[in-house]
Amino acid sequence: MTKIGLEIHSQLTNLESKLFCSCKANYREYAPNTNICPICMGLPGSLPRINKKAIEKATMIALALNCSTPEKIAFFRKNYFYPDLPKNFQITQLNIYGDTSVGGPGHIIIGDKKIRITRVQLEEDPGRLIYEGSSSKNQITLVDYNRAGTPLVEIVTEPDFENPKQVREFLNILSNLLENLGVSDPSLDGAMRADANVSIEGGNKVEIKNIGSFHDLEKAVHFEITRQESLHSRNIPIPQETRHWDDKRKITISARSKEEELDYRYFLEGDIPWIRMEKDILDMLKKEMPESISSKKERYISKYGIPAQVADVLSSDKFYSDLFEASHNEKNAKEIANIITTDLMGLVDTREKRELSKFTSVHLRDLADAIQSGMITRNSAKNALPEIVKTGKDLSRIIADLDLGNMSDEFELSKIVDEVVSEESEAVKQAKSNPQTVNYLVGKVMQKTKGKADPKITMTLLKKKLE
Ligand SMILES: [Zn+2]
Repeated sequence: MTKIGLEIHSQLTNLESKLFCSCKANYREYAPNTNICPICMGLPGSLPRINKKAIEKATMIALALNCSTPEKIAFFRKNYFYPDLPKNFQITQLNIYGDTSVGGPGHIIIGDKKIRITRVQLEEDPGRLIYEGSSSKNQITLVDYNRAGTPLVEIVTEPDFENPKQVREFLNILSNLLENLGVSDPSLDGAMRADANVSIEGGNKVEIKNIGSFHDLEKAVHFEITRQESLHSRNIPIPQETRHWDDKRKITISARSKEEELDYRYFLEGDIPWIRMEKDILDMLKKEMPESISSKKERYISKYGIPAQVADVLSSDKFYSDLFEASHNEKNAKEIANIITTDLMGLVDTREKRELSKFTSVHLRDLADAIQSGMITRNSAKNALPEIVKTGKDLSRIIADLDLGNMSDEFELSKIVDEVVSEESEAVKQAKSNPQTVNYLVGKVMQKTKGKADPKITMTLLKKKLE
């Protein structure tokens, strides 16, 4: 059986400062090597001081992943030499003396499968290496320490995945969960990184390092399974090794040397005391945590009668569920859920949600109310949406500009119905013998009125004509 385990690194966003100093966490906004200080550079005599908010946010992630929380947490030094690591060690967490990471064992459910979480740990991100130059002759490497010391959460799973599809489903659920908690922004470059371990039946475990995005993670796992199966089918043994993901060629390549856990010479970070996780702090965090995606979904179904599938799509997406929360009331909730999931989500790609900056909850409420009061048809509402998203104008302005007002004049509509009946004699004959096919004629009336006709009135008028 194929076994896949993951190590997901997610940057903590919405924090003021780095993990152990007062340099800014939003390192992307600074010129290279200007967001640094003696602490994150590890200069002699400097002492780290832990960012309390980072512990709280990491603990929220652990709680959301159903992890146990330890009584005390500790930090360790992971020693290795690499140009992006100014201190020559990384401050991280480890479970040497019992569970001392922010999160102990937990789980997440995908479909009817349970994926076990091994632990959740808080650590500092290294700096960034930037490669410039095209050929190997003139290539240079630049180092930017602005990111060094920013908070990173690592989520480690047991090797419970059996195929890349389960990996993708897990990543979707995980990124929705992190976004819902308000602790991560997956759209930022480098916000999510991952390692994976993959083994197929009868083969050794292979680790893949250096995967720069969730999108590539699924590809890397897929590539690695295919590669191992190909070796296996030719009776070539699969060595235990570490491979790197080459994101340009989309393949894994053997890494020259493999550091064993022992090589890191972990030891306790003596400059940071053990931190006791008091019960009242945990209780406070649980209270502060936003409503979970599953509880939102249940509420949408039971309180407003929103269909399960719509409730599922709506609750999973923080941006759209926030928009829903801000705009709905008891009466229009179902209509608003419908507009968001069938029209708005189809119109604006999830990655482009920022383009919805001019679209507000007021627009959404106005649209639902206009449909419910019969001012415009659902179809016209759909036609108005792109214009609202683009311009941010009031709905009433757009109805006037695009002439979308409902065709309420029954006499006008009746004339168009007559036209359709005389033009479509074959369909009329059919509709008389089989009333089910009358929808075709309703569609024709809709076409002629550019979707402005009220479908119910049209249907009544048509039925009268066909009698
Ligand atoms: Zn600093």
